Amino acid sequence: MPHCANCGQQWSWETTVKQSFKIGGAGMTCPNCGAKQYPTTKSRQRGATVAFLPAMGVILSNVAFGLTVWQFLFVAVGMFLLFGIVIYPRTLTLTNEDEPMW
Ligand SMILES: [Zn+2]
Repeated sequence: MPHCANCGQQWSWETTVKQSFKIGGAGMTCPNCGAKQYPTTKSRQRGATVAFLPAMGVILSNVAFGLTVWQFLFVAVGMFLLFGIVIYPRTLTLTNEDEPMW
């Protein structure tokens, strides 16, 4: 789980997931010190990869197994949960500055 770049407090999994869904220029707020925190450039790039892998997984499993719509949705939601909620918070690192994407 990430540590706040301002106060060094480690964020809980719940905080990280909640704050991650707020990304969109606004940054994330540290629950301990209230400082605005942003994912580092490296972390954003990892996040983009983490978002890309489940999409590929869903497409490949559709091609390989010829899934029905419901099976397809089940796999898509499962992949999203696995990568977005389980793996992404563990790879996130924080900074005080809003760094460029690349
Ligand atoms: Zn903090």
